Amino acid sequence: MKQLALDVKALKDKLAVCTRCGMCQANCPLFAQTHQEADVSRGKLVLIQGLIDQMFDDPKGVNLRLQRCLLCGSCAHGCPSSVNTIEIFLKARAIITQYLGMPFSKKMIFKKLLCHPETFNDIMGMVAPFQKLFFKKEQNSQGTSCARIASPLLRHRHIVPLKATAFNKTLKNSDYQGKGNGIKVAFFVGCLIDKAFPNIAHSVIDVLEHFNARVFIPSNQGCCGIPALASGDGQTFETLVKTNVSLFSKEKFDYLVTACATCSSTIINLWPSLLKNGDKKLLGQVEDLAQKTVDISWLLEKRFDLSLGMSKEGGSKEVITYHDPCHLKKSLGVFNEPRQVILASGNELKEMKESDTCCGMGGSFNFDHYDLSSQIGLKKAKNIMDTKCSIVATSCPACMMQISDMLAKQRQPIQVKHPVEIYAKALKANSK
Ligand code: SF4
Ligand code: SF4
Repeated sequence: MKQLALDVKALKDKLAVCTRCGMCQANCPLFAQTHQEADVSRGKLVLIQGLIDQMFDDPKGVNLRLQRCLLCGSCAHGCPSSVNTIEIFLKARAIITQYLGMPFSKKMIFKKLLCHPETFNDIMGMVAPFQKLFFKKEQNSQGTSCARIASPLLRHRHIVPLKATAFNKTLKNSDYQGKGNGIKVAFFVGCLIDKAFPNIAHSVIDVLEHFNARVFIPSNQGCCGIPALASGDGQTFETLVKTNVSLFSKEKFDYLVTACATCSSTIINLWPSLLKNGDKKLLGQVEDLAQKTVDISWLLEKRFDLSLGMSKEGGSKEVITYHDPCHLKKSLGVFNEPRQVILASGNELKEMKESDTCCGMGGSFNFDHYDLSSQIGLKKAKNIMDTKCSIVATSCPACMMQISDMLAKQRQPIQVKHPVEIYAKALKANSK
């Protein structure tokens, strides 16, 4: 315990910034459900301080409390003292996990699969065709499936299945080099888009090439590292950062674009801050990539004329509402650009109530605390349904998974799409 207290002490200065004002209670979607102090950031920061002061000898209990968090950043966004809660939570999880050791199953997934993108892709490709043995396809607008038999792991989830052909497989182990001659854009695909939503990746390429951008996509990209980091595996996180840095260092480009809010905020905020005390050369490369990283809607709105190729005549319009992913609006301040992309597609945008409250996904939080995650998600589904929209758009594939599950539960005929898919579809319709 003494050694753990010494290790956690590295966070002392960051913890000291918190004035214990309690304003984070008003912003935390988890606290809104449970009203438990240990669920909100102030309570979690006090627990970490307690480890430093050796007030309790239950690091496992503290870790469980730290893991009970959506990592949505709503607390940091509204904090008057600018406490960097997410960085503190993630570093504390990593220190405690190193002290306690990681469960064998997680170790296998992170070290043997996530750290080896080629193997991970091959195994996922082999698993995908067998999904129909375990899941039955539902006839709904969200394209979800549910377990054929009652499963304690899957519960009553409506999941978005892995696609038979992941996006990465279409690259056939060679880097993609587009034919445009405008600005050069590298594309970081991300695991969920690669394996569950490849249509988003194809839409990114179609739209960028419509604007004559030179697209570069290194094959066999690794995960951005957030699943491993959130589980306290700092080593796998660093391995994945190194893998991606070496892949993207092969070419020079103007922007590194992603269509996943969580990947963007991880590359921009967490890659540099988590590697600050390590290898100086790697840190320099990471900072360079972080500065070039942008969300696809931001790039489209800031660098291109969105009306190019769109007809002025209005056809039949879909009513679309937009959910702000926490990692895009609260972490990166991007919220107007996706709305402009939707409007440029010629459809109607109708705002929902509380469009920027968390959808309740939170990565592994959804697996570990499905009932709580669903309570938060069903509030989001109600706000979406109240707009009477036919499509809900959002810029994060993890939010898309959660919203698809919640809408499928409500038997709603609302489609879940990424703004770039909506825009790419409109471009195609206009070119006919
Ligand atoms: S984290 Fe920020 S909002 Fe929460 S108690 Fe500390 S200073 Fe106040
Ligand atoms: S990250 Fe989100 S869920 Fe976690 S304490 Fe902060 S506001 Fe609450």
